[in-house]
Amino acid sequence: MNQPIDVMSRRIAILGSTGSIGRQALEWLSGESGMSICALGAGNSAELLARQVREHRPQAVGLASEQAAEALREQLPDGVELFSGPGAMCQLIRHTRPDVVLQAVVGAAGLQSTLTAVECGSTLALANKESLVCAGAVVMPAARRAGVAVLPVDSEHAGIFQCLQGAEKKDVRRVIITSSGGALRNLADEQAEKATVEEALNHPTWTMGKKITIDSATLMNKALEIIEAHWLFDLPAERIEVVLHPQSVIHAMVEFRDGSMLAHLASPDMKGPIAYALSYPDRPGRETTAPMDLPALGRLEFQPLTGRFGRAVNLGYEAIRRGGPAGAVLNAANEAAVEAFLQGKIRFGEILTLIETVFRQAEGRESFPDTASQPNEESDTLSTLLSADAWARKKIKQLLTK
Ligand code: MG
Repeated sequence: MNQPIDVMSRRIAILGSTGSIGRQALEWLSGESGMSICALGAGNSAELLARQVREHRPQAVGLASEQAAEALREQLPDGVELFSGPGAMCQLIRHTRPDVVLQAVVGAAGLQSTLTAVECGSTLALANKESLVCAGAVVMPAARRAGVAVLPVDSEHAGIFQCLQGAEKKDVRRVIITSSGGALRNLADEQAEKATVEEALNHPTWTMGKKITIDSATLMNKALEIIEAHWLFDLPAERIEVVLHPQSVIHAMVEFRDGSMLAHLASPDMKGPIAYALSYPDRPGRETTAPMDLPALGRLEFQPLTGRFGRAVNLGYEAIRRGGPAGAVLNAANEAAVEAFLQGKIRFGEILTLIETVFRQAEGRESFPDTASQPNEESDTLSTLLSADAWARKKIKQLLTK
């Protein structure tokens, strides 16, 4: 039997529920009375998902791995629907029709389910920036057509979004996102080149998943976030800036034409952005993080981006200026290079070099017909972007075997 649904409560689906964002969202939601969890989806963590199901009693669950789904099947309570395989996240959304989808799948793998959420009219709480970096040109128009709100669950963008409440876009001069500098921020470029996986995963201020922690160390996370801001707030590259801010207390600033600047300050804790997006347009009604102790913080510092940091961020600006498939190429090259680094196939310094090589090879290309990806009937643009994604991954693979 499906559990009865309280008609007054907001029904939430969490895709990527066993990852860092998903786990923090469930922790926050367990103290929240006005919301219920209708669906949980994950990649292959059957054990953890089974525990989450026992605790949160969703109507349906999904696992991308067929093998993991078999392991989960025996542990599911009666009446909980199970979807498995590559289309599991999309089926989960279509079956449960959530009010809000918290999209926390890692990488461009989340794109199809992002589009399904929009198609089903679910509000999108988007922690998966790669969906926008790869296919903002498809996701944002689709959301506008469907009247679906896309709410950022990325600390910097959640900060910008909050500073923009009640503001008019014509009054905005620029937005500024901050970067902690990542795990290797105190190393010179030559030392960082040789950093181990362990060193690159040791983030000074944030606790996050592996992929994004490596992205933070290379600063590719900021390159992706510039593109994310471009799509979310409809801003050109020259009105999005990045500044190093080692304390990770200010997440973003919005400067208005009259010279006023609003800053968003919060503890470096993703529960804040998660709670805000799930509660929107209200503010979360209860305390989410501990109060900030300003005197204990002492001072807030800002520095310009230099050396390898500037190199990475410039790729983000370049992708916006090139337009078309550039974001898809950049994102896919990054995903493939980070995976190679995590598998010990390349040195830290080679991540950026590989991405730059593939990004340069893609310059001026509008289509990527030599790939195996299927044409998509719904959208030529989406087909092109998926082909570009596949092409960039193939190029990285070829470079790795040389
Ligand atoms: Mg961020």
